[in-house]
Amino acid sequence: MALTGTVLRAQGGVYEIETEEGTVEASLRGRLKREERTGDKVVVGDRVELGRGSGSGAEAWTIEKVHDRHSILARKAPGKAPRPKVIVANVDQVLIVFAAANPAPHLRMLDRFLVIAEAGELRPLIVVNKTDVEGEEAARALFAPYERAGYRVIYTAAKRRVGIDALRDAICGQVSALAGPSGVGKSSLLNEVQPGLGLRVSAVSEAVNKGRHTTVTAQLIPLECGGYVADTPGLREVGLWEVDNDQLHFYFPEFAPFLGTCRYTSSCTHIHEPGCAIRAAVDEGAIGFGRYDSYRRMMLGVDDE
Ligand code: GDP
Ligand code: ZN
Repeated sequence: MALTGTVLRAQGGVYEIETEEGTVEASLRGRLKREERTGDKVVVGDRVELGRGSGSGAEAWTIEKVHDRHSILARKAPGKAPRPKVIVANVDQVLIVFAAANPAPHLRMLDRFLVIAEAGELRPLIVVNKTDVEGEEAARALFAPYERAGYRVIYTAAKRRVGIDALRDAICGQVSALAGPSGVGKSSLLNEVQPGLGLRVSAVSEAVNKGRHTTVTAQLIPLECGGYVADTPGLREVGLWEVDNDQLHFYFPEFAPFLGTCRYTSSCTHIHEPGCAIRAAVDEGAIGFGRYDSYRRMMLGVDDE
């Protein structure tokens, strides 16, 4: 008998897998086990084929086969390890949550998350919470450059249940990786979408952060309406290291209409060259100054964390 499922958790060689017949535990079949050197062979989010094992518990099922992944989130492996480490597979979108106020949004951090998502070909969805503090109009003004760049922004106030239906619609049936600083209201929002969900997600984060083994693991938390929230501690460490400087301008969608019109088309870094169309667009207000400043900082490796 074969069974297909999704890996929710992986720890110590035991994989928790959601299947049509409920959640089961499984271990790796001999051949897969021998190939499992990097820990990347089977990760959270993978779709797998299960076969009947010989024993009980985690031995009752074995993972026979891993389906191809349509996306991965990877982080730089610690130390000298040559390859990035995959932390979650098959993510559809990155849910990037900031507060409009309390704390004031760290827009340079948002720009980094957006570049990570763009480079990984993961759809970003920006959620701006706590619009009740200074009003939705002020929040919309602050995030207007992102809407102009083509990003979808959902404005919410978890405390007043504003924007919750839009958020629920956006995450149901999807695998969403959650990102954003603490204190912006991620747990509050998730609890409004589904009672208890935020609590589960923050329990995962804490358990992982306090774990003695510093391996960054992820977990998928099922949504009642279909889909999952992927809590991926360490998302901050994901991504930027793999973005080449000469690719960076492609990851700012609002630059697109101007690329190719700089005087030195093929070599312009948009930092100091004369006749740069990107900088001209910034001067004219067609590209937000803050967004360009983030680009410049990433190009020059200026860290503002
Ligand atoms: P997390 O760390 O991102 O999960 O944030 P929490 O959900 O724990 O929320 C942090 C704090 O912000 C808590 O005190 C919440 O009550 C508060 N909070 C959450 N959402 C809102 C909101 O929409 N408006 C206001 N004013 N406060 C909120
Ligand atoms: Zn240029």
